Amino acid sequence: MKKYVFVTGGVCSSLGKGVAAASIGTLMECHGLRICMVKVDPYLNVDAGTMSPYQHGEVYVTDDGAETDLDLGNYFRFTSSPVTKKQSITTGQIYQEVIRKEREGQYLGRTVQVIPHITDEIKRRIVSAGTDNDSEITIIEVGGTVGDIESIPYLEAARQFAHDVGRENIVFVHLTLVPMVAGEEFKTKPTQHSAKALREIGIQPDVLLCRSAKPLNDEMKRKISLFTNVNKDSVVSAYDVDGTIYEIPLVYANQGLDRMVLKKLGLEYTEPDKSRWEKVVDIYRNPVDVVKIGMVGKYIDLTDSYKSINEALCHGGIANKVEVEIVKIDSEDLEKEKDLDKLFKDVDGILIPGGFGKRGIEGMITAAGWARKNNLPCLGICLGMQVMVIEYARAVAGLADANSTEFMPESEAPVVSLLEEQLDVKDYGGTMRLGRSESHLKEGSLIRECYGTPLIYERHRHRYEVSVKYREVLEEAGLIVGGTTPDNQLVESVQWPNHCWSTGVQFHPEFTSKPTDPHPLFAGFIRGAIDNK
Ligand code: GLN
Repeated sequence: MKKYVFVTGGVCSSLGKGVAAASIGTLMECHGLRICMVKVDPYLNVDAGTMSPYQHGEVYVTDDGAETDLDLGNYFRFTSSPVTKKQSITTGQIYQEVIRKEREGQYLGRTVQVIPHITDEIKRRIVSAGTDNDSEITIIEVGGTVGDIESIPYLEAARQFAHDVGRENIVFVHLTLVPMVAGEEFKTKPTQHSAKALREIGIQPDVLLCRSAKPLNDEMKRKISLFTNVNKDSVVSAYDVDGTIYEIPLVYANQGLDRMVLKKLGLEYTEPDKSRWEKVVDIYRNPVDVVKIGMVGKYIDLTDSYKSINEALCHGGIANKVEVEIVKIDSEDLEKEKDLDKLFKDVDGILIPGGFGKRGIEGMITAAGWARKNNLPCLGICLGMQVMVIEYARAVAGLADANSTEFMPESEAPVVSLLEEQLDVKDYGGTMRLGRSESHLKEGSLIRECYGTPLIYERHRHRYEVSVKYREVLEEAGLIVGGTTPDNQLVESVQWPNHCWSTGVQFHPEFTSKPTDPHPLFAGFIRGAIDNK
């Protein structure tokens, strides 16, 4: 029988439910179990593709081209669960499907309702997601907070699920907050109320993960247990770790969370192998050096908008046993900055991330130029690569007006443009290139050296491409095209000549980096930054 773990959240948002759910996944995998992670998001957007980074953080792209919630990135980094379209469920998708079936007459004239039709579709999708990798346990993270109107159909579906599959095959984990008030006193009331709110809709949590600034003592656990009907052993203190989030699975394991979950699911407890995670934490805690990376972006103030890049940089550090300190540089501020030498004096490398729209672009171009001329290691990702190309075209290839048609449609030297603009064909429609595709890497290029193989598969999310019309001019001016699509049509990677470490990539390597398996390009970039110190 397949097993299910539902992870809900209470008290307030942003408690790190994604990381909590993923950490449970990590622990189950340490016990040799196959898992599948699923995120259900209570919003009406069909996917996260249209959502602003200001509202929703980064859009995480899967191999099969789904634009999803950033928690799927956590799943990828913490576990080997499949992350595809199927693992990201939204209310928008659920309603779209139910309404489609209704229009097709599949409900045979019945009144179509939230219960049972919406809840049935939710359950169908959860079951279907878990069939992908033949997993033994499906872990479902329910977005939102208990008490939200939007979450109700999901919680109702979860309640029904226990009936459908049997209470012995399901575990309800509830993540709450135990705040500290004046005098450093913990307050359990919000947790009591939140567990009560869950019980009111028919769900008795089996495990409570209590977020708090400091570890909860036995007395607090006992009190929470008393008021919530959760065994004291199943009240887990999910305190703030001072180092890395990759320590969280170990914090849970130390309190026996994995033992509890396995017991509740009727699965045998075997000694877990946590060594890979212990190694990550050990390297993180004992770095041999610190490397500073300047991140030149426009959503820099928002912690979650470059989530995967921040994590991938950290993994690059782990690969080299160093700590990576990220220095945020707002590309718009950079446009006004006079003293660039001072600004970049302290950093050992710069990273120009992806993005959309014109704002802040000139600042990124300035940063790329500075890095190129001053031999500062530079990694450009997606938009970042396009910026490296524009800067090179202007400064070296003599195309003073070079730009992307995304920012200047009337540019006289559109070195980056839509494919339809380059090939004078109409049927591309400016659609986004999304998901995993193949690239060929050129012998002798830095990128090839990093990957150690000529054939790579990486995920894309962009509309614009380096223009096929300008490639020759740029190459003649010395720009190295280190990677292309297999047909050699589109530029996938560039490198500056006579420079210590530079690579721009049209794809998103950050989505496929794990702490236990750092991405070769980030490992190489951090190595380049260390060498440059
Ligand atoms: N805006 C650029 C494009 O659409 C880059 C996109 C990105 O960085 N993801 O091509």
